Amino acid sequence: MDWFPIFLALNDSPALVVGGGAVAMRKTRQLLVAGCRVSVVSPACDAQFEALISQGKVSWRVARFEPEMVVGHRLVIAATDDAELNRLVAASANRFGVLVNVVDDPALCGFIMPAVVDRSPLVIAIGTGGSAPILARQVKAYLEALLPSALGRLAGFMGAWRARVRGHVSRPEQRRRLWERVARGPVAEHLFVGRDADAHRLMARMVDGAGADTRPIEGEVYIVGAGPGDPELLTMRALRLMQQCDVVLYDRLVSPEILALVRRDAERIDVGKRGGASGWSQAQIHQAMIRLAREGNRVLRLKGGDPLIFGRGGEEMEALAGAGVTYQVVPGITAASGCAAYAGIPLTHRNYAHSCIFVSGHDVEDAGYDWQRLAAPGQTIVFYMALGQIEPICRKLRREGLPDTKPAALIANGTTREQEILRGTIATLADIAAARRPRPPALLIVGEVAGLSERLGWFNSDRATAPDAPGAAEEAGDYAEDYAQTAHDRSASQFALLTSQME
Ligand code: SAH
Repeated sequence: MDWFPIFLALNDSPALVVGGGAVAMRKTRQLLVAGCRVSVVSPACDAQFEALISQGKVSWRVARFEPEMVVGHRLVIAATDDAELNRLVAASANRFGVLVNVVDDPALCGFIMPAVVDRSPLVIAIGTGGSAPILARQVKAYLEALLPSALGRLAGFMGAWRARVRGHVSRPEQRRRLWERVARGPVAEHLFVGRDADAHRLMARMVDGAGADTRPIEGEVYIVGAGPGDPELLTMRALRLMQQCDVVLYDRLVSPEILALVRRDAERIDVGKRGGASGWSQAQIHQAMIRLAREGNRVLRLKGGDPLIFGRGGEEMEALAGAGVTYQVVPGITAASGCAAYAGIPLTHRNYAHSCIFVSGHDVEDAGYDWQRLAAPGQTIVFYMALGQIEPICRKLRREGLPDTKPAALIANGTTREQEILRGTIATLADIAAARRPRPPALLIVGEVAGLSERLGWFNSDRATAPDAPGAAEEAGDYAEDYAQTAHDRSASQFALLTSQME
């Protein structure tokens, strides 16, 4: 190892920066974050420095660098574009025993500044010995995305409990096990979502009972939206919970690529419906979630899109709340947002659409919708589960007076490499779909904005022509069953969202 990482306590330490340009500025900011008292020596300074100087955060010596200036500083940074001067700074620092960094010249450095992931008190430093700073920054970006932003609060929490744990749990092995359970288990999860009181309560129970208490710690259910298909559209929280669950119950809409991101050791349970064949009933899913959580598992309920938009997440929350099982819900990008974005269709637009409504397209003949309201002017209508229903939907909208020229688009497998867009009008789309037989899942968007897709579409999928697809029948089988609705279901799922007039 060429560079040994250490963490310096720099709070209130004097540090010297030689140079007054943009690089010096960047280094100065880093030193200020560490709590240094920063002096800058340079005949001239960037305008950005002046703000810091006038705020009293930095003191500026308007001078050329002299070797004795390093004396009394904990560390020195040479950040000028004059190689000769930088060498002089390094030599002076070495002579007076002061730690020195010369920007972009590792050979002259006594220390280098790593890329930092700051979840104080947890701090991660990443270095490449100056050989590939870009790589260090990429690793940093990766860790930033991976580590919950509240990890620092967990570290602080563990610090606050350290003494008490040491006092109560004497065997080091037992302490280690306890801390592992804290860091990976429900205590951490409580903290991450702001349930601090619950975290402390549970921690007290774990500390008091460590060794003696054999009751299982109750698990939790994560109802998580996996987005419309592209794994890159997962939220960071979704990904984190996917990587820490013990068991996953997933729907058919969840793609294999996304499933591959679930923790390898987690038990996988497919509760979806396939090709019309009956999968699990909703009641069975509720029972399984409750049982698994009570056994102490972290149960991931992974759903396509957003769990609370035509996803029956509401019923699952009701079941869990009724059973007293702790849960959290992670929103996902719903198919309407995902498909619209990837098809170049703005769901609202100041010139064309001032409201947008999400409608279940399943079984529209009997849905009892207020079609007049759907056909309101200046409104985008998004029909979910509509693949087998394009003809009746368009017929009803035309009957309410929408003109035959009203643009309509069907987006199948939106956001994936398989994405296929069928563009037409409410008079033509049903025939186009019958001829092309797109593969489910598919979403129907009706409104002026659907006509913009041709011009604004940007995402290139692999899909050119319609393959030998199972077509609409399969979609009806897959989702219709999910939505074989009771009267109660129907009121909830008819209109998921109605945005009000834009200002
Ligand atoms: N909770 C999900 C919707 C579940 S209902 C969400 O918020 O997106 C299932 C319907 O969603 C499908 O019939 C289809 O209309 C739509 N859908 C889901 N993923 C889709 C995708 N990648 N492309 C097109 N439509 C999709």
